[in-house]
Amino acid sequence: MTFNETLNCLSSTDQQMVGQILSLFEGVDTQTQTFCQETGLRCQKGCGDCCTAETIETTLTEALPLAVYLWSKDLAQQALDAIEARPVHETCIFYRPEGLNNGEGFCSVYPYRFGVCRLFSFAARKDKYGSLGLVTCKHIKENQTQEYKEVEQKLQKKDAKAPMLSAYALSVASIDPVHGQMLLPVNQAVKQAIEKVGFYISKH
Ligand code: SF4
Repeated sequence: MTFNETLNCLSSTDQQMVGQILSLFEGVDTQTQTFCQETGLRCQKGCGDCCTAETIETTLTEALPLAVYLWSKDLAQQALDAIEARPVHETCIFYRPEGLNNGEGFCSVYPYRFGVCRLFSFAARKDKYGSLGLVTCKHIKENQTQEYKEVEQKLQKKDAKAPMLSAYALSVASIDPVHGQMLLPVNQAVKQAIEKVGFYISKH
């Protein structure tokens, strides 16, 4: 089945939700690209270290486009088996380590990755005192120290615009008030999304 044929199995509400999430992802990508161009911050080539964290969370809602893709490619059962074989708080099943150095690797479902995967390193949040700070990785802090410090200073002076994690989370929650606010360990969100799409397919 194609992506669209699989999508057509879903209820019209859920089809709409998938479309809205994909548009949101597109908007986030535009925002982060602009931010990177303006600040000079960028990921190191071949680095996938942030995907090796065991604390990555997302929502079922954001995992729906990926679940549609996996069913369309007949990869859903394989993904469920991989999730089943891992503890709940484990690294994302879609990360593929590569190269000789730790942290080198890539995302095997890149076009369908979640908001956190798109925003991490290039988005800001307010601390408890209301000050803006960049949510970024150790490699950027260590290897692009000058650019990182400049961004932090500008954010504190409200002199730079960065994608906001809180605004993104609100967008997801407004697209799906039921599941859009419920953060789950990444593989569990994928599991639930695969099961949801699978339910529709079985009824079709
Ligand atoms: S979906 Fe891709 S980018 Fe996101 S954590 Fe998994 S491997 Fe990394």
